[in-house]
This record gives sequence, structure tokens and C-alpha cells, in this order.
Amino acid sequence: MISQPLSNPNKLPPKMKVKNRSISILIIICLQYSCSNKVKQKKTQKTKPTNVVVIVMDDMGYGDLSSFGHPTINTPNIDKLANNGQKWTNFYAASSVCSPSRGALLTGRYPIRIGLAGNKERVFFPESKGGLPTEEITIAEMLKKIGYKTGIIGKWHLGHLPKFLPTNQGFDYYYGIPYSNDMDAINWSVERLLGPSNIKFWNVPLMENDSIIERPANQYTITKRYTEKAVEFIKKNKNEPFFLYLPHTMVHTPLFASEKFSKKSLRGLFGDVMSEVDWSVGRVIATLKELKLEKNTLVILTSDNGPWLMMREHGGSPGLLTNGKGTTWEGGMRVPGIFYMPGTIQPGTIQNLGATLDILPTIASFTNAKLPDDRILDGFDLSSVLKEKSSSKREHFFYYRKKELFAVRKGDYKAHFIIQNCYTDNDEKIILKKPLLFNVNIDPSEQYDHSDQHPKVLNKINTLVDNHKKTIVIKTSELDKYATKK
Ligand code: MG
Repeated sequence: MISQPLSNPNKLPPKMKVKNRSISILIIICLQYSCSNKVKQKKTQKTKPTNVVVIVMDDMGYGDLSSFGHPTINTPNIDKLANNGQKWTNFYAASSVCSPSRGALLTGRYPIRIGLAGNKERVFFPESKGGLPTEEITIAEMLKKIGYKTGIIGKWHLGHLPKFLPTNQGFDYYYGIPYSNDMDAINWSVERLLGPSNIKFWNVPLMENDSIIERPANQYTITKRYTEKAVEFIKKNKNEPFFLYLPHTMVHTPLFASEKFSKKSLRGLFGDVMSEVDWSVGRVIATLKELKLEKNTLVILTSDNGPWLMMREHGGSPGLLTNGKGTTWEGGMRVPGIFYMPGTIQPGTIQNLGATLDILPTIASFTNAKLPDDRILDGFDLSSVLKEKSSSKREHFFYYRKKELFAVRKGDYKAHFIIQNCYTDNDEKIILKKPLLFNVNIDPSEQYDHSDQHPKVLNKINTLVDNHKKTIVIKTSELDKYATKK
């Protein structure tokens, strides 16, 4: 009844026409105001910067998450990220040991380009004098330039002398054990690592910014304390864009779990420790949710290298992959890769190639940070795979051990030129007269050599290697610089 005269205003008496016109104008103004407000709100929502959280487990193998097939380890919180975000099954760490892997993750460059490929040592020790060269640009430095608050909570392992500490590499805040938790050992031995845990055997420092605040660090509570500090960092910086790098000290041996998680898992102490780092991930995500930051925070979770098989039941598992930490077999370098950002990342399992080298350019894309343009980057921006499930720009991956290229993956195939075990009684280096060639999609366990059947594939890989080598300028190794003879 009311809608009729309004729909035909010409039939109204003149006074009502004027009144009605005023109402119409008022409605239009209101609509315009509400629309422009909505646009403004949308704009604000759209331009809200993306926070970044990168969680790295230490020595967690490809087979150590329940979402990656472990039968007795429970990781419900990490699995939730894998199921509601993207789970990458062909994802690589840039090295099979700690320091070079971490340096590559933070700079997007292969360790050989950044002084983290030595002739003698493969990682930093308490006696080391070197560190990640300060002229390298870390994710933290990249994000700091556009106003991000940056924090690292956990294992740094890129040089512990003042010049190389995180606070000189783009991080506003540091809390953690600066290198591996089995260092500064009183009589280091495998037996001791496999025996009952005791923090007194490992005189590692716990640092806050550039000061030692506890020694030996109480490793029983280290995961719990890292988590509390991570939550505190997020809460403190909730109104700013932030980058939180959370490289856990666990699940590297010696293993320590807090009382709440102790003796609970069917997988034994390793399973207890996995449960605690999983709980930690749950706490971080719950904090983001509580602060309404979950939808504008990119969360990435991975591992620095494969499992330390020498540690027997105290080491992780490569799942169906061959070998582990220290080697260029798949078990040494293929690691779980998980990306999570509800509403932005399209959930699914991604079988394309990806690597920790890609984390820096991907973060740059999500945050509109400027990529370093005065040096070669080895990473690819994965954002279109994450947002639209398009194909990954990464089509190859180079497996280095120290300064030598041991293997190359191109598409389905992986060629090994040199093979060598690690942490075994026979770690002899074997330079192969003819490369081994595996189709690692059909044969991820690298069991069946097809070099005779596919000479063309090998030729293509050789061309790729030649072109790659032309771009390599080996930087002086920081790893071989020590204060005293070890
Ligand atoms: Mg490691």
C-alpha cells in the first residue's frame, strides 16, 4: 500500500511531492554515506598489513607429523593448519644441516652464496668466530624497512658473537638458545644423548637480546617458555604489523619435555617432545584468533632438515624417504611445508616443488615489501599457488653439501652426482662415474635408477647445472673460522 504512491510519485499532490523528494534525497545521502563508509571499511580491511609467523622445528623429519603419516605421534594443532591451509609434499630445506639451512631460509639464497658453505665445518659451534655476513639481507631486515616489529624466539645458529646476533640482523627482540642444544657439552657422546635427560650435561646459554640470562638453560621448560614469549610478543605488537620467527630448539637431541607432556606418547620421549611443540603451535594460533589477527597473519611451518638418524629412537623419521640429516638423499632435505592463512590461502595438498628459499620472496609478496634487487635470489614467489592454486614457479632444486653440488631435481627427476652418508661408520664420499637418476614422484624412496632409460633427461639436467654454476660466486666460508682449535 505504501509502495504504490512512492513508485508513482507523479500522481501525488504537489506538497507531498516536495516532501517525498526530500525523503528520497535524504535516503540517497544516507545510502551514499553508508556505501562510502563500507568502501572505507573494506579499504581499511584490505590494506591491513599481513603479519608473518614462521615456525621452524629442528631436525623434524618428513614422517614425524600425524598429517604426514606418522602412526603414533599426535600433532592435532599442526594437522589443523595442514588441513585448513596448504600442505606441501615436495618441499625442501636448502641444506641438510642447521646453520646453512637457516641462513638460506632467512635470505632466500643458497648457503654457498652467503658464506655458509665451508671446507671443514658444516655448522657453527661455540668456538666459531663467524656468522651470517651482516651484508646479507634477512626477512627481518626486509620487513623492518616497511615498519614491521620483528622478533625471533628460539634457536638462531647463525653466529653468537655480538656482531652476528639477531639484534644486528634485523630483529628488534631475541630470546633463545643461540645454537644447538647438544653443544657446550660435558663429554659429548651419543650414549649421553640417548640416555636419561639432564640439563647439566649441556651447558648452553639462554639469551635475551645480547645478554646471557641463564646457563645451563633449563631445557625441560624451554618449549613452554618460548611459547610464552611468542604469545607475549604477539600481544605486545597486536596493533603493529609484526614478523615473528619461532625456530624451536626441539626436536633436536638431547630431548626435553615439560612435566605436562612427559611420558604420555606411544612414540616415547620423541613423541612427548613432538606433542609439546604441537601444543605450542596451538597456543600461537589461539592467540592470533583471540586478537582477531588470524585472517591477516601468514603462518608458515617447516623443519630445518631431516631427522638425525644416529639418535635412534631419540631422532625423528624420514617416513618413506631415504636417509636423513646431513645427506642429500630425500630424507635429509625434504621436509613438511605448511602454509596457513584462512580466507586467503586456498586449502589443499600441493605436490608442486617448493623450498624454504621461497619463503622470503613469498613473504615479500604478501606484505608488499621490496625484494633485495642488488643480488641473486634463489627463491620463487609462491603466492599464486597459495592464493589461486596455480602452478609453482619452482621447477628445480639444487642439493648442496658444503661447497659441492651433490644432486639436482628437475621436475619429476632427481640426479645424484655424488653420494655420501652422514653420521655413520662409513661416510666415504663417492663421486659417481655415471649419475643416478630417480623419478622421485613415482619413486620417492629413490630405489630404482633410470639413468640408462633417460639420457635426454640427464642432458637437460646437465645444462641446468652448467647455467646455475655460472651464477655462483662462492663466498668465503664463515663456518671455518674458529676462536680455538676444536
Ligand atoms: Mg637441525
